[in-house]
Amino acid sequence: GRPREPMPGARNGFVLVRGAREHNLKDVSLDIPRNELVVFTGVSGSGKSSLAFGTLYAEAQRRYLESVSPYARRLFHQMQVPDVDVVEGLPPAVALQQQRGSPTTRSSVGSVTTLSNLLRMLYSRAGDYPSGQRLLYAESFSPNTPEGACPNCHGIGRVHQVDERSLVPDDTLTIRERAVAAWPTAWQGQNLRDILVTLGYDVDRPWRDLPKKDRNWILFTEEQPTVPVYAGYTPAETRKALKRKEEPSYMGTFTGARKYILQTYAATQSAMMKRRVARFLSSDDCPVCKGKRLKPGALTVKFAGLDIAEMSRLPLKKLDALVKPHISGAEHDAAHPEKALVVQRIVEDLAGRIEVLLDLGLGYLTLERSTPTLSPGELQRLRLATQIRSNLFGVVYVLDEPSAGLHPADTEALLRALDRLKTSGNSLFVVEHELDVVRKAGWIVDVGPAAGEQGGEILYSGPLAGLANVDVSQTRRFLFDETAEPQRDVREPTGWLKLRGVTRNNLEGLDADFPLGVLTCVTGVSGSGKSSLVSQFLVEAVAERLGQRREADPDEGELEEKVRTLGGEIVEGCDRIKRLVVVDQKPIGRTPRSNLATYTGLLDHVRKLFAATKQARARRYDAGRFSFNVAKGRCETCEGEGYVCVELLFLPSVYTPCPTCKGARYNAKTLEIKIRDQSIADVLAMTVDAAFAFFADDDALSRSLGVLREVGLGYIRLGQSATELSGGEAQRVKLATELQRAQRGGTLYVLDEPTTGLHPSDVRKLTRQLQGLIDSGNTVILVEHDMSVAANSDWIVDVGPGAGDEGGRIVASGPPKQVATSGSPTAKYLAKAF
Ligand code: ADP
Ligand code: ADP
Ligand code: ZN
Ligand code: ZN
Repeated sequence: GRPREPMPGARNGFVLVRGAREHNLKDVSLDIPRNELVVFTGVSGSGKSSLAFGTLYAEAQRRYLESVSPYARRLFHQMQVPDVDVVEGLPPAVALQQQRGSPTTRSSVGSVTTLSNLLRMLYSRAGDYPSGQRLLYAESFSPNTPEGACPNCHGIGRVHQVDERSLVPDDTLTIRERAVAAWPTAWQGQNLRDILVTLGYDVDRPWRDLPKKDRNWILFTEEQPTVPVYAGYTPAETRKALKRKEEPSYMGTFTGARKYILQTYAATQSAMMKRRVARFLSSDDCPVCKGKRLKPGALTVKFAGLDIAEMSRLPLKKLDALVKPHISGAEHDAAHPEKALVVQRIVEDLAGRIEVLLDLGLGYLTLERSTPTLSPGELQRLRLATQIRSNLFGVVYVLDEPSAGLHPADTEALLRALDRLKTSGNSLFVVEHELDVVRKAGWIVDVGPAAGEQGGEILYSGPLAGLANVDVSQTRRFLFDETAEPQRDVREPTGWLKLRGVTRNNLEGLDADFPLGVLTCVTGVSGSGKSSLVSQFLVEAVAERLGQRREADPDEGELEEKVRTLGGEIVEGCDRIKRLVVVDQKPIGRTPRSNLATYTGLLDHVRKLFAATKQARARRYDAGRFSFNVAKGRCETCEGEGYVCVELLFLPSVYTPCPTCKGARYNAKTLEIKIRDQSIADVLAMTVDAAFAFFADDDALSRSLGVLREVGLGYIRLGQSATELSGGEAQRVKLATELQRAQRGGTLYVLDEPTTGLHPSDVRKLTRQLQGLIDSGNTVILVEHDMSVAANSDWIVDVGPGAGDEGGRIVASGPPKQVATSGSPTAKYLAKAF
């Protein structure tokens, strides 16, 4: 039993927290008002999330689950009961957290916002049907139901295809010389060749000299004949053996190259295999539905002259303009007054929901846009908009840095949206660094003073103004002292990288010049085209020119979501770049097996230190023994995961610490080896700060741990799994890994919003690191919204003026001071930063 009696002197309208100790929180107690915008501030790693998500949200969630299922409750209890004595007055909570890693589900803007449901209802009940066609149910307008899905592509809209050129890249080769490159290698490939010999095909003639009929059959046949195979025989010997009806080595079954590729692509569990066969596939719009994913019948139904697929491809802004006139009912058929009423009701709801999305600056999105192509910030705003329309009240919304990815102009819209939620009777607990949001808070909870062990205290909890008196607060300095970074002299470019005719997403034949040897900031409202220009086009084009393969993308095997560049080239400057490094927010790994120590290479060094101890040498343990990926040293029960997975009915499966090693990941024998009393598991449990002190006399480790601290990651544990890192943290890990390499100069660094998740004081540390890169002869290009960073760069490229088809142009470029007076949408915010 936990104490549940009401608190003595409990205050009305407050959430009371007593004795919170989750993660690094130091047994803290505080009162937080309801029906307010409460902002949790503090340097990264100070404990804001541990309080807002780890304690308050987790407690709300626990209470909710307690009312659901006794079985789930038991498991949940073991796992996630926050370490806190008392929480009183807590309303039900909804968390809108930034997605860690990329979402795996095939959802779209339409499904996340539920707008697609409404649109289907509209088409079903109020669409214009061709005369004689019966009314269709709403499901018939969904590609995800058997009633709606196009039978040819099963509602995917794309079909995968192969052609002779992709299957046989070099037609001067013979089949024996592996002309059919798409076929499997090794035994299976040989098997298929032997079958062709039995079937009488000439495997020693160049592919292009074979008759067309034979080439087509070998590549495209659906037949799968099973025939005798004489392994190791020449074609002549095979012919004789067949004639004599000799006993074959075995019976072999033929599979055509197309069938093999399509089958393997659809069925294989191996990502590597999938990637291999994907190379031979091209994907095209389904010829039956033309990529619209629905049965022909559903596509004949129109509203405002468009079928539902066309409607889903309109930017929300256009969709809104199209449906709005129907609210009045005047647009509708006088012969069907009952239909007019239905239209009016549905359209009203539709327009209301879209309006919130437009308010949040998302009018450039289309309903069919798939969520994996959205940024985490866009997704969070979509969810936020959906909540605003849900008309809940008395709920507490817990948000994680909602300003991420937002231009200052978009942030103003966000604040209006949060205000609407508050006005309709909800509470908002927001973890946020953006000072414009912090200034709007009705109540501040400042956590600190520093990160990890040095944090976890509540420095202040009260109305904004009071924070001015709290000397130890880092946040106070930035809110009240206005200590702008001392102005540097703007550097002169050493050359130019010139892009011409870039056509991709909303960019149409765009020309853009980026200076070399300096720090450039690319700014512009969300959706204006910054990522399309920099993170997509520029990165791909430079990589291609350098002959540099982009680091393996885990989704590479997937064909559906690829955006293609339709035009553009680099006409100058590429010869000045020796190397390209992209430091993005993509997760550094998707399994708990990859972590900070493995990614940075730190663990390799630490393992060698353990293997070099007297104890280890006496037992002949090598460095491999200290890897949790190698059988000899790891815990057998969990195979080095530290966790085991428990499947739950109706709930996502949960991970629980391994009962054998209790999360240590290694077996008992391995854990007996110690360096100054610490086992390998103890070392992995250390924060970067702690390990820095522990390995102070090791030069190599001090250097790499030092860099991690300098980018503000001192609070992360060495063994913290990659899946627990936020996008911003993953990005800083990558940056640190780069920084610890020798500085050679001539490298182009591209970073997409590196300040995400960073307190202003951490932002300064980061910019100092970036300036250091420039000083050693490199070029840095940032996509960035933080105006303090933009003001301190050497050059600004402002993309805009609006989002989607209202953007995609360069509206201003030049040194920051010059752009600040340009009158562009960014100018006034930039001017404020000086
Ligand atoms: P903030 O939100 O202020 O950046 P966090 O609350 O995320 O800080 O982290 C506070 C401290 O708790 C840090 O030292 C961090 O490493 C630690 N921490 C965060 N998540 C976990 C976890 N799942 N397990 C153990 N420690 C954690
Ligand atoms: P920014 O980086 O400035 O926020 P983006 O370059 O991401 O802008 O987006 C510019 C435009 O291109 C927007 O209209 C956006 O919806 C569209 N867009 C971006 N990525 C994709 C994609 N993967 N698929 C379809 N449209 C996209
Ligand atoms: Zn189809
Ligand atoms: Zn174990």
